[in-house]
Amino acid sequence: MSRPAQYDVLFEPVRIGPRTMKNRFYQAPHCTGFGDVFPGGNAHHRAMKAEGGWAVVNTEATTIAPEFDWAGQMTPSRIWDDDDIRNWSLLVEKAHEHGALAGIQLHAGGAFLTGFDSRMPGRHLTDRLEEAGWLGSVIKMDKRDIREVQRQYVAAARRAKRAGFDILNIWGGESASLPVQFLMRLHNDRTDEYGGSLENRARFWLETLEQVHEAVDDVVIAARFCIDSLHEGDGGIRVDEEGVGFVELADHLVDFWDVQVGGENAELWIKDAGPSRFYPENFQQAWVSKIRPHTAKPIVGVGRFTSPDTMVEVVRSGQQDIIGAARPSIADPFIPRKIEEGRLDDIRECIGCNVCVSRVNARWHLICTQNSAAGEEYRRGWNPEVIPPARNKAKNVLIVGAGPAGLECAVTLGKRGMAGVHLVDASDDLGGHVRWIAGLPGMGAWGRVIDWRKAQLGKLPNVQVITNTRLSPRDAYEYGADIVIVAVGAQWVDTGINGITHQPIAGVTGSRPDVLTPEQVLRDGKPVPGRRVTVYDTEGYFMGSSLAEKLRRDGHEVTLVTNFGHSSPYMDFTGENVHMRPMLERLGVTVRSEHIISAFEGGVVRAHDHIAEQRELEWESDALVLATQRVPLDSYFKQVRELHEADPGAEVQAVYQIGDCVAPRMLLADAVFDGARLAREIDAQDPATPLPYIRERRLIGSTDETYAAVLNRPEGR
Ligand code: SF4
Repeated sequence: MSRPAQYDVLFEPVRIGPRTMKNRFYQAPHCTGFGDVFPGGNAHHRAMKAEGGWAVVNTEATTIAPEFDWAGQMTPSRIWDDDDIRNWSLLVEKAHEHGALAGIQLHAGGAFLTGFDSRMPGRHLTDRLEEAGWLGSVIKMDKRDIREVQRQYVAAARRAKRAGFDILNIWGGESASLPVQFLMRLHNDRTDEYGGSLENRARFWLETLEQVHEAVDDVVIAARFCIDSLHEGDGGIRVDEEGVGFVELADHLVDFWDVQVGGENAELWIKDAGPSRFYPENFQQAWVSKIRPHTAKPIVGVGRFTSPDTMVEVVRSGQQDIIGAARPSIADPFIPRKIEEGRLDDIRECIGCNVCVSRVNARWHLICTQNSAAGEEYRRGWNPEVIPPARNKAKNVLIVGAGPAGLECAVTLGKRGMAGVHLVDASDDLGGHVRWIAGLPGMGAWGRVIDWRKAQLGKLPNVQVITNTRLSPRDAYEYGADIVIVAVGAQWVDTGINGITHQPIAGVTGSRPDVLTPEQVLRDGKPVPGRRVTVYDTEGYFMGSSLAEKLRRDGHEVTLVTNFGHSSPYMDFTGENVHMRPMLERLGVTVRSEHIISAFEGGVVRAHDHIAEQRELEWESDALVLATQRVPLDSYFKQVRELHEADPGAEVQAVYQIGDCVAPRMLLADAVFDGARLAREIDAQDPATPLPYIRERRLIGSTDETYAAVLNRPEGR
């Protein structure tokens, strides 16, 4: 297949200074949580995108000197001295192997620092800390300090060039670094030639760009620029003022513009990485399109682009020249190749769940709900598109349960060429609990988890999908398969048992008409009685808040009770809470945080303060909806295993379980991963036990060959 002609424009080369992008696809700089601490992970993650056809791959923000250390805020990514060149060279080499250009974001964070590693204060344009950088300490720069920081930029640029980078991006994105902070009146109240007028506030960045230009030739110089920080009130970057103004002032110093909106604190930054429940594709259009009249240089913009038609539209409309993407490139590093080959229905579209972001915010490396190989490119040697045939591919496999783990396992085993894969589910369609999760307000895009896998299954002649069929454990065992895989999932408890009290709520059970679980509300259509509803969340992710939203929108008066300090704290990591909590407030949901429910009798909920237990509360409620915890449906596997153990000469050679029936995973990504992991290791000696993976760490006396031995193992790659 070849690409439909309407997408030709996406594959036109774009000249950027001394280099040429082979097409318009640009993996926008994004955090991975690998930094330089896990250089193999970082290099191989970026390399996968290069292999998938992206013309440019970029690092995350990489600090130029120890004083800008932000360890603890982010996994450190540094280019402080010549030794760092070695690790970055690997990333560059991997990008170049696949014909991509490699870019590095050079970063000096001003007040956005910690000093946890370096134990140094950092130079800043004022002596004030700020919301996003309150963990560090700062020194107000005089002119000598300004020259010294600019010298650090130049030194880092020289090192980056020696590492082989093609693009040096002097970062002023998310308003979290010195160049853009100088532009912002919020930070900059200097009275010298670096404060005051726009020309003065731009001086630091302009001088830095000039000095890097003079010091380093034959590289592309770019600026990632927060064209609107979206601050309310005065002091931020406004696209119509500092945004277009700085573009005009610095246009002669950059080879292209890499623009985005959303500022440095959690509330503003997430407007750059907008979750799908609040932000549609191309949500930055209103700001990005204002830049075009002010520059003839190529413009990169972002906006969770997954639709090739939208990509064409933003190019043809003149909004931007280059398709920038972070999350879409994580969910599917092969988007460009798939468009080029006309395989549009193979694109694994990002669902905008921000689980990748959540892991980085939790100070670890990214994972992805849609792409089970994301983050595993180096550690496990996984390639999302290259799934080698299994050595035991002559086997027939039965998978019971077509939720996220079962679906992923079936797709992967199908691609591994197993003789026959039978995916059997009791319900009338595939997807398990994702089906009804995707019906929650704003969560429709999550259905892509099912859609992509369904489409893949439809292309695999060795996979048979059987719905509306409930197999008993004996049915499964006697099905005639060589391998039986149980993926029957988990369910929410209907007693209120939870990890705080470790006890059920007395007298509470889902058989009562006024007590409901999420499945009963969303899947089974059990009526929610009365007007007043209490939702009890001790899980801490989206279910409690989402149910509260749904029930409020359905017309109920809703009280959301949680043991946590505020509702759905994991949504702080995904960035969704920035919008979710105010939305619940706007909708009129009453949130009682740090409370434990002790009873629900006679239409009265009793709760006590989790922190100060003597404070008791009670209120009238017509219904109680419990999102306290899920339990695995593990008896099915145990029964199949018992049949197997009692039948030593059997046809069935192995029985495994995957996904939530092993242990309920809070993140869909982990259930999907579990299905992929078993399928990718189905021909290992003991598939039930995960193969060791590369742990990037310093091993005293070890050499790279130690890692190579693991990487080159034949099984399970
Ligand atoms: Fe997209 Fe979610 Fe994957 Fe992140 S984790 S890339 S938001 S699908």
